[in-house]
Amino acid sequence: MSKRPRVVCIDELANKSFDRRGLCKWCGSDEVVKNGKNKGRQLFKCKECGHQFFNNGKLPRARKSKEAVALALDAYYEGQSLRKVQRLLRKFAKVDVGHDVIWDWIQKYTPLVRDYLSTFRPALSGAWYADETILKFRGRQHYHWDCIDEGTRFVVGNHISEGRSMDEGKAFFRICASNKPRPHTITTDGMPTYHRAINKQFYSRIPHRKVNHISIEHVKENILIERWHGTLKDRTRVMRGLKSPDSQIPNGFVIHYNFLRGHQSLKGKTPAEVAQIDLPFEDGWSDLIDWSGKWRTLCQTENPN
Ligand SMILES: [Zn+2]
Repeated sequence: MSKRPRVVCIDELANKSFDRRGLCKWCGSDEVVKNGKNKGRQLFKCKECGHQFFNNGKLPRARKSKEAVALALDAYYEGQSLRKVQRLLRKFAKVDVGHDVIWDWIQKYTPLVRDYLSTFRPALSGAWYADETILKFRGRQHYHWDCIDEGTRFVVGNHISEGRSMDEGKAFFRICASNKPRPHTITTDGMPTYHRAINKQFYSRIPHRKVNHISIEHVKENILIERWHGTLKDRTRVMRGLKSPDSQIPNGFVIHYNFLRGHQSLKGKTPAEVAQIDLPFEDGWSDLIDWSGKWRTLCQTENPN
């Protein structure tokens, strides 16, 4: 399958981002010069991306340190409440902020990291299991649809909806299919939506592109899905206070699960590692925030429009 040029460009830039360890906090370049002072503090200017900045350990346009932001996201996606995250920040980062600030960090950095990580293609086993589980937002029931690759435990897609209509099923499989190699088999329970939505998304007359849909009575007894739903419910307990599911939070949990948590069943590796996405992690969310910010700057520098 051919890729559009712009996508290739973005993918290459994603790989570049983690080798860029220069002083520029926007793009990681070391082509940086002193550029006067502001209120007594040294300003720098990057010759590559053109941004001005202070060398103060903070993220671009942020008031608190990168470490504080990363600590907050890590603790939150480990399943701590905003209140608990606030206490952790006070204790370990000596940072005093309100919940609303922590919430803004989560809303700001999760989609950026998600866009960045979506440029990497996981090498999947191609045997997928899809199912949905019920999550409540302010007492209202919603469906969380998710799909896991058997060999790697990689969550290939997730989607939240109020109902289980055909349109929602299609939206879910469209997400699963984006940028991933096609599966050879998808196993689900017998809900008719699944069959029709899979057919709609993956139908092909070409034999080697055919996707086999297996419908079994009790997909919930499948250990793979059961474990993931257990993890998800543990982690998402902190979501009960959310007004609506229309937020980045479930995506953040998937990132945390796929990229940052080693699995016993994978001999301590993360699903991403098993799927051959080898990112040089040293510090979890801090790395992800750093790489994705640099990636975005590089994309903007190379594609100014
Ligand atoms: Zn720069």
